[in-house]
Amino acid sequence: MKLTVLGFMGGYPAKGVGTTAYLLESEAFHLLIDVGSNAVLALEKHLDPKQLDAVIVTHYHPDHIADMGVLQHVFQLKDPDKTLPIYGHVESDLHGLRESAYTTAVDYTGNEPIMIGPFRIAFLKTLHPVPCYALEIIEITTGKKLVFTADSGYLADFVSFSKDADVLLADTNFFQGQEGHKVHMTSYEVGSIAKEANVKKLILTHLPPSVEWEKLLGEAKEAAGDVVVVQLAEKDLQIII
Ligand SMILES: [Zn+2]
Ligand SMILES: [Zn+2]
Repeated sequence: MKLTVLGFMGGYPAKGVGTTAYLLESEAFHLLIDVGSNAVLALEKHLDPKQLDAVIVTHYHPDHIADMGVLQHVFQLKDPDKTLPIYGHVESDLHGLRESAYTTAVDYTGNEPIMIGPFRIAFLKTLHPVPCYALEIIEITTGKKLVFTADSGYLADFVSFSKDADVLLADTNFFQGQEGHKVHMTSYEVGSIAKEANVKKLILTHLPPSVEWEKLLGEAKEAAGDVVVVQLAEKDLQIII
């Protein structure tokens, strides 16, 4: 499967980079994970947004759903001929925003895995001020595993959830020394999870717009041991998993 990072900024878009959005492709299936600010424009560089087959949303904070309305406009106004399923949980009043003329809200409970096209997706509820779910995504044909922490403070359960993942995409909003935060993780925490879970590659994401990222990268590498650590210093990063 191919992961394309469309936006990785935490909280708000900055430096020409949007907030959380990833395109995950397997064969001819195109899944959008979160719909952050600038997602539709960034997506357009890779494929016609109308080629999307499904969307999954981890939670309803603005930096993860900012482009939801304009994505719905794409399906409504641009040769309307198909309906886009948008998967999300129902533990928030905002689940109604997924329903429109040419998009359908599909609910997940977080309790059991679901199938979306070629992917099997399991969930872990995160530590965050609003209900939010981390995703374990398995490509059925290859068995390859991608884990996305979504937004979360540190949870010991991330180690088992991420076990032997090919790629761990982890919320790294804070520097070492701020461990135990209840909203986001630190470079040290995500590096430690990657090492204990024996993941092959750690990607730092949800980066703080206003700070020096090299320091975050260095701290994560130190905690991660032999794990390859990638920092999203440029947008449109593509990784084959
Ligand atoms: Zn959030
Ligand atoms: Zn966020």
